Amino acid sequence: MSAPTLPSFLNMYRELIAAPSVSCLEPQWDISNRQVIELLGLWLSSLGFKVEIQELERQQGKFNLLASIGPEPEQVAGQAQASGLLLAGHTDTVPWDEGRWTRNPFTLTEADNRLYGLGSADMKGFFAFVIEAIRDLDFSKMKKPLRILATADEETSMAGARELHRFPNLKPEFAVIGEPTNMVPVRMHKGHTTDCVRITGRSGHSSNPAMGLNAISVMHETLGYLKQLEQDLQNKFHQPAFAVPYPTLNFGHIHGGDAANRICACCELHMDMRPLPGMRIETLHEMLAAHLAPIHQLYPGALEIHAMHEPIPGYECPADAALVKMAEEISGNTAEPANYCTEAPFVDALGCETIVMGPGSIRQAHQPDEFITLAEVTPAQQQIRQLVNKICF
Ligand SMILES: [Zn+2]
Repeated sequence: MSAPTLPSFLNMYRELIAAPSVSCLEPQWDISNRQVIELLGLWLSSLGFKVEIQELERQQGKFNLLASIGPEPEQVAGQAQASGLLLAGHTDTVPWDEGRWTRNPFTLTEADNRLYGLGSADMKGFFAFVIEAIRDLDFSKMKKPLRILATADEETSMAGARELHRFPNLKPEFAVIGEPTNMVPVRMHKGHTTDCVRITGRSGHSSNPAMGLNAISVMHETLGYLKQLEQDLQNKFHQPAFAVPYPTLNFGHIHGGDAANRICACCELHMDMRPLPGMRIETLHEMLAAHLAPIHQLYPGALEIHAMHEPIPGYECPADAALVKMAEEISGNTAEPANYCTEAPFVDALGCETIVMGPGSIRQAHQPDEFITLAEVTPAQQQIRQLVNKICF
C-alpha cells in the first residue's frame, strides 16, 4: 500500500514544477533548490527511505539529497561493497525565456496530450516517475539497496555531483541518471569546458583610435584564431558513434565596451568546448593556448583566459556492460551516445556501471514550452519499476 501522505503522480509533478529551482551563472537568475529537495525528502521518507540532505560546500543555499532503502551494503574491512541501484537526477533547471513561453513555466499544464512546465523533461519530473514507479513495492522483500540521489547545480557547474564523496556509503553497483532520453539508454557522452576569454585594451576618445587599444578589434582577431581551432578540432579528432563526431567549440556570450564614442577597453567572450570521451581536458587547453599564441605576441598582456567552472570529462560505459544489456532489454532500445553532457562522469567515478536513461526528449530540454508526452508516462514508469525489481529484489 502507498503511504497515505504521498500525492498522486500528477500532483507530485505539479508540485515539483511549481517549486522554482533555476541555477544560473548570472546571480540575478540563480535560486536555491531547497523547495524541490524538501518535497523529495518528505515524499521519500513517507515511503520509508532514510533521507540525508547536505548543503553544498561549494554553493551555499544549494542542496544534495540521498535517500536509501533496503539492506545496508556489506562492509569489508570498513569499506562498503558496491551493491544495488542508484537512480539519480538533478533538481535544478535552466532559466526560462519570458518572451517565448506561451504558458506559465511554473504551472503544470496538461494540453495536447502533453504535460508542460519548466523542468518537466529536464528533469525534475523524473523524480515523480521514480516515486510513482516504486510506491507500491514491498520494500521488506528487497535483497539489494535502492538509492535516489537528487543533486544541485547540474545546469551550471555540476557542483552537486562534485560532492558525492560526502556520502561515504554511496557505493551502488549500477546507476541510472534520468535525463530525458525517451528511455533510450545512453552509454557515453562528451565532456565540457566553459572558458572566459578576456581582452583588456586601453580606453580613449574615439576621435583618435591610435590613442588606445580597442578590445573589440583585438577580440575580432581572436575570434579568427578560435574559428581555426574549431576547424582543427574537427580535423584531428573523430568518434563515429556520435552524430556530431568531433569535439565542438561554441561562442555563447560576448560583451564589450560602454559607449560609441569611447575606445573599447574590455571585451569578454564566454565559450564552451566539448571533448570526446577519452580526450584529455589538458589537450584541449593546450590547443587553445597554441592557437591564441599570436594574440599574446601582438598584444602583450591583453589576453587572459580562465575557466568559468571546472571542466567535465567525457564518459563511456562499455557496450557489453551488464547494466547496458539490462536497460536495452527492458526499454527495447539499443544504447547510444549523446551529444550533450550529464553528471554521469561523476556518478561513474563512484565505481558503478552508469547509464543515462529517462522519460522526455532532450529536444524539449532548455526550450520554451518544455513538455513530456502523456503517452510516455506509463511505459516509462513500468520500465523504471522493472529495473528496480531486477536489481534490488
Ligand atoms: Zn538535465
